[in-house]
Amino acid sequence: MNSYQKAADLVKQSNHTTAFTGAGISVQSGIPDFRSENGLWKNYDPQIFSISYLSQKPAKTWSAIKEIYYEFFVDSQTNSAHKILAEMEKNNLLDAIITQNIDNLHQEAGSVNVIEYHGNSKKAICLDCGAEFNDLELLLNNIPPVCSECGGILKPDFIFFGEPIPQKAHQLAYLEAEKADLFIIIGTAGEVQPAGQIPFYAKENGAKIIEINLKKSNYSDELTNIFLKGQAVEALQKLANNLGISLE
Ligand SMILES: [Zn+2]
Repeated sequence: MNSYQKAADLVKQSNHTTAFTGAGISVQSGIPDFRSENGLWKNYDPQIFSISYLSQKPAKTWSAIKEIYYEFFVDSQTNSAHKILAEMEKNNLLDAIITQNIDNLHQEAGSVNVIEYHGNSKKAICLDCGAEFNDLELLLNNIPPVCSECGGILKPDFIFFGEPIPQKAHQLAYLEAEKADLFIIIGTAGEVQPAGQIPFYAKENGAKIIEINLKKSNYSDELTNIFLKGQAVEALQKLANNLGISLE
């Protein structure tokens, strides 16, 4: 039996399967890994994306957000890896996705139970009154955008440097890690903290671990039961074949 057959058997036998995704699943959608050489933040001073900077110079922060949005996010499309996970959920083979990505692509592919550990790049929230805005592209017409309710400063709904993880996302992620008897790591090496700790918690609570990555990671030797080497799209396609799942 090869690794993909073994992985497929684990998926079929599992009562609760949680996927944990990172930048690697969206690279083939044209969104670069922000930690890599061509990374998203390379051309920007990280302090621009802090609450204190945003409060003082919202136009500067929002100009950078606008550039990043139009360079990377506006044309990004779901890829087969996102779609296969959505199809697995429809077939009761996947219960939840915890994602570190802010690109909204899991939802666009049709996944329902998605926990966004680092927030979402398509929404914004008012720092003063908490009002939420769902169309970032519209907001980008006026830099800096202001709250239509109170005139306050808006912040994109992804976490800035130095900001804590949203409490609800954190609680839901740990609940899904605890419930999982199978935990599938996809396209993340566990370098970003505290997100990187979640798979360890899953393992401590009894989950078997499948890992899909281009190369071995912080997880591979310590946690991983089955390592599937490759890009997310190709590896999930092979797994899907072994599960009898096909995309339209
Ligand atoms: Zn407001």
